[in-house]
Amino acid sequence: MDHRELLSGFVRLHILLHAADAPVYGAWIIEELAHHGYRLSAGTLYPMLHALENKGYLISEEERHGRSVRRLYRATDLGREGLRVAERQARELFGELVDGHGRERHRPKS
Ligand SMILES: [Zn+2]
Repeated sequence: MDHRELLSGFVRLHILLHAADAPVYGAWIIEELAHHGYRLSAGTLYPMLHALENKGYLISEEERHGRSVRRLYRATDLGREGLRVAERQARELFGELVDGHGRERHRPKS
């Protein structure tokens, strides 16, 4: 993923958003994020999922799927709370990033 450092927060929120909606698993997330223009490898995604789980935003369980076992992730209450905060902040950022509203007001005074 290009510009990984900048975009990783978006990716984490995107994962959380879907995990708040329905249980999700790695391969599905990779495909879903590809639709949104993110090329994410398993080597990037899985550490991200583990970190989100360690921080209490996601909870996972294994589910047998035919002969393989799949790890399903869903958002916790903390995850949902984080999403609400992020939604507010995303609107705030979006306003400045896209519409430029108030950007001139927020310039450092020289
Ligand atoms: Zn999506």
